[in-house]
This record gives sequence, structure tokens and C-alpha cells, in this order.
Amino acid sequence: MGCAVSVQRLCVLGATGSIGASTLDVVAQHPERYEIFALSGHRRLNELAELCRRFRPRCVAVPDEASAEQLRALLQTADALPDILIGESGLEVIAAHPQVDTVMAAIVGAAGLKPTLAAVKAGKRVLLANKEALVMSGALFIEAVRASGATLLPIDSEHNAIFQCLADPATPGLAAKGVRRILLTASGGPFRQTPAELLRDVTPDQACAHPKWSMGRKISVDSATLMNKGLELIEACWLFDATPAQVEVVIHPQSVIHSLVDYVDGSVLAQLGNPDMRTPIAHALAWPERIISGVAALDLFDIGRLEFERPDEARFPCLRLAREAAQVGGCLPAILNAANEIAVEAFLAGRLGFTEIPRLIESVCERAEPCPAIDLDAVFTADATARRLAREWLSSR
Ligand code: NAD
Ligand code: MG
Repeated sequence: MGCAVSVQRLCVLGATGSIGASTLDVVAQHPERYEIFALSGHRRLNELAELCRRFRPRCVAVPDEASAEQLRALLQTADALPDILIGESGLEVIAAHPQVDTVMAAIVGAAGLKPTLAAVKAGKRVLLANKEALVMSGALFIEAVRASGATLLPIDSEHNAIFQCLADPATPGLAAKGVRRILLTASGGPFRQTPAELLRDVTPDQACAHPKWSMGRKISVDSATLMNKGLELIEACWLFDATPAQVEVVIHPQSVIHSLVDYVDGSVLAQLGNPDMRTPIAHALAWPERIISGVAALDLFDIGRLEFERPDEARFPCLRLAREAAQVGGCLPAILNAANEIAVEAFLAGRLGFTEIPRLIESVCERAEPCPAIDLDAVFTADATARRLAREWLSSR
């Protein structure tokens, strides 16, 4: 028997990125369940035009009028032209559009905060890949979810794993759920075994050659410095109402266990799978149901062994900096995030050494005034100040 499934209308923010591509791959496997209503892309307009031809969205958001012109030209021979919206307000319009049910928040960095919050405030089902948005706005974001009744589902593989291991993710407080702590796994990145003295000279391409995951360049560098795990620690605190002390980072080079939940009775639940983002994406798209994602079945015989190590905070200070920011709270996580975005950009451009990334971030976190995150203005002011301090640090060397 089985009842008819109603079609979910999707807005994919950051459709031209790595998460965007994996999302569209899962969606294409289930045309009876999902319809692409809106897409956004930032600079890769040829790719965006290709996606428009393939998925025929009703709306598309691009950064400016010149991009809109270019997209129109590229779609001249297409049989349907989408409405083209412009700028940050365009992103907010498609994210909150009354005809959209589900928003995949997959823009990278602080640029994703406003559109993601627009989706939250409109009460959408929000699939959160853009961890920086939650790291920056923390309590404000979670309060907006509560106030609007939005459904927030984590896409980050670790947080998606934890969500799957929690019997009742919505119950506030870890203690009420009988949880002792969260074990957040990390692959350790491409430099897990690189001696400290060699880290100084690693190149952007080496940093982006992740051993287990294929991702955008910013998150790849974050994975190499372990700032990604630091941001994820902060993300976990907000998503699961945990304190920083309740989240322990475990290096697990195979990236088969995506995270674990340790309960007071001694039970430890883990979620396993091949490292492929289509699994958490399919989970969140279909939750509480399950759908095929295209990911191959896990072959434990092939994997053979699972290993665990403590993170080395002497070689990877970003983890400590993020934990400290989580403990202090207020606008400090937004400051840390902004300083990191500038540092990563400079590293990718060849203007900053790998081991200078944490130095820049630490200096900015020390120099920025601590402030409570009372509203979004306070968060964006802290973000802007941190970016200015980071640029000053770069030019004063
Ligand atoms: P990516 O660089 O591959 O894609 C980023 C997307 O954001 C692109 O579509 C780009 O056009 C868009 N974008 C970039 N700057 C923008 C701006 N200023 N305004 C509007 N749009 C902009 O990145 P990704 O790897 O897909 O990561 C996206 C987000 O998902 C990040 O927050 C990342 O931390 C998170 N995430 C990614 C993975 C992964 O496996 N790639 C895993 C977990 C979490
Ligand atoms: Mg992750």
C-alpha cells in the first residue's frame, strides 16, 4: 500500500559548491520526492547555467546585475528562464520564499548567515551545512529556530551522526537525555603525521588534498588546521545544548565512524558509513524516513581496522583557540570565525604561511573587544572588526 509522498520543494543555497553538487545528486535520484524550486551560485555562472538547464528552478539568486546579465545570456537557448534575483536580499528572498519547503544552507562562510537565518525565520526545514552561520550567531540562531518552529537538521557528517545517535534530539540538555558526553571524530586532515617543523612550508594544494573527503577549498584548509573541528565543537554545543567540556575530539583516521554519543549507563552509540556527504544529505532530506543516497554499502572487511588518537594541540593550536572561544562565548566565536576566514583566504592566495594561520587568529581574538552577542548587529560589528584587525595583522608583517 503506502501513501503518496508529497513533493518537497527545495531551495539550494550554494548549489555550485561541493555540498550543493552532492545535494543535487541525491535529489536527482528521487524526482518523485524533490523538486528544485530555487538555486543560488556565486561566481561560477557556467555551472549555474548548466544546473538551471538540468533542474529548471523557478528562481535563481546571483551576486549582482552583471552576473544576472551573464546568466540570461547563457540561458538564451534554454526553454525556460528562471526569475533572477540579485545580491544578499535575493538570497534571503529565495530562502524564505513561501513556495519553498526545505532549504539546503550550503554557502561557505559568514556570507551564508543572513540567508540561512531568513530560512529559519520563515519556519522552513533547514538543512545546515553552513556551520559558520551557527558558530557566528549561536544563541540568536537557536532562539530563531525555536520561535519560528523551523526544523533544523545537521548536514555536517559528525553532527548528523550525533543527531542519529540521540534518541530524542529535541529534549534540551544532554543530561536529560542520559548523555555523558559527545565524541566528535576528526580524520586529522592531510598533516596528521607531519612533523611540526615541516608544517611551516606546506602549500595550499597539499592542504586541500584531504585524505578522506573531497570538499571546497576553505573547509579543506580548515580540516588541515583542525579549525574545522574547532568550529564543529562550537556547532555541536549549540545544536545539542552541550557545554564545550562535554564535547571531546577524537582523531579517527579512517573516517568511518562519523561521531559517537556516550551515555551514562556506559552505552556508546556510533554512526558509521563510507565518507560521502550524500549519506547525511539523504538522511536530512528524508528524515524521519530513509532513502537511497547512491553511497555504496560499508564493507567492514575491506576497512579492517578502526583507529583512534588524541588530537595534538601543539601542532594544531586552532582547536584550542576554538574551544576557548566557545567557553568565553558572546561575540568571540564570530571574531574567531572572521579571523579564520581572512587567514584561510590569505593562505590560499600564498600570502600567509600555514603555521601563521593560528597566530593571526590568536592575535585577533586577543585584540578584539569581548562583547555579548545581544543581536545580529553586534555579531556583524564583531565580524567586521575582526576582519579589519586580521587585515592589519597581515599588512603589518
Ligand atoms: P564550496 O566552496 O564547494 O561551495 C561554496 C558555495 O557557496 C558555492 O556555491 C559558492 O558559489 C557559494 N558562495 C561562496 N561565497 C559566496 C558568497 N559570498 N555569497 C553567496 N554565495 C557564496 O564549499 P563546500 O565545501 O560545499 O562547503 C559549503 C558549506 O558546507 C561550508 O560552510 C562548509 O563548512 C560546509 N560543509 C561542507 C562539507 C563538504 O564535504 N564539502 C562537509 C561539512 C560541512
Ligand atoms: Mg564535518
